[in-house]
Amino acid sequence: MKAAERFAGHRQELARKVHDAGVKNPQVLQAIATVPRHSFVDAGLHAQAYEDSALPIGHQQTISKPSVVGRMIELLHKNKQPLGKVLEIGTGCGYQAAVLSLLAKEVYSIERVRALHDLARTKLRPFRIANLRLIYGDGIRGLAQAAPFDAIILAAAGLGVPDPLLDQLAIGGRLIAPVSKSETEQQLLLIERVSSHRYQRTALDEVFFVPLQSGVI
Ligand code: SAH
Repeated sequence: MKAAERFAGHRQELARKVHDAGVKNPQVLQAIATVPRHSFVDAGLHAQAYEDSALPIGHQQTISKPSVVGRMIELLHKNKQPLGKVLEIGTGCGYQAAVLSLLAKEVYSIERVRALHDLARTKLRPFRIANLRLIYGDGIRGLAQAAPFDAIILAAAGLGVPDPLLDQLAIGGRLIAPVSKSETEQQLLLIERVSSHRYQRTALDEVFFVPLQSGVI
């Protein structure tokens, strides 16, 4: 990825903040140091783009907090092995998809809001990322035609993990999702598919994500 020279120092600084927040995988930190996050938000938010915080992207959605992006992608790596085929639910403006594209063989990213899908397409175009496919649709259904996935990452919180996504996870694959425990509490859930019928679940950090919603708009 050809990264803008402007903000180069800021990108390194952001990777340092993500490291200080607990993310240790050097490839993940390198990817965060490479993707120019300001390109994914409105010009009025450029100055805040290298803070470790979520920011608005319109349509009541946000660009995720970088340390949480880093943490979730780190958790998808089993024994630091490179990622194979990855499915992201909730493209938003495309930032995390760009980070994933540097770490995975292939990335598929689904967005349910047409205007955001189009925005992500526009934002990502200049980077000419060959291993990333953007799909407009309802991520709750997954993407059967490209399954199975070695890793699945949800950028929006549901009451549970949709069954089609569990079905589309490869054996030995990992899924990471924020899941709502109550109106105000969410927790990251890491699921590893151990065999065709066995899934191992581990509840992790408290987080805050926008809701996973069904249907397309
Ligand atoms: N990945 C983004 C985060 C975007 S916020 C980043 O890089 O920062 C989460 C996104 O999930 C929102 O754009 C929202 O519209 C989308 N979303 C919510 N439910 C969805 C669903 N069922 N299918 C696809 N996208 C969904």
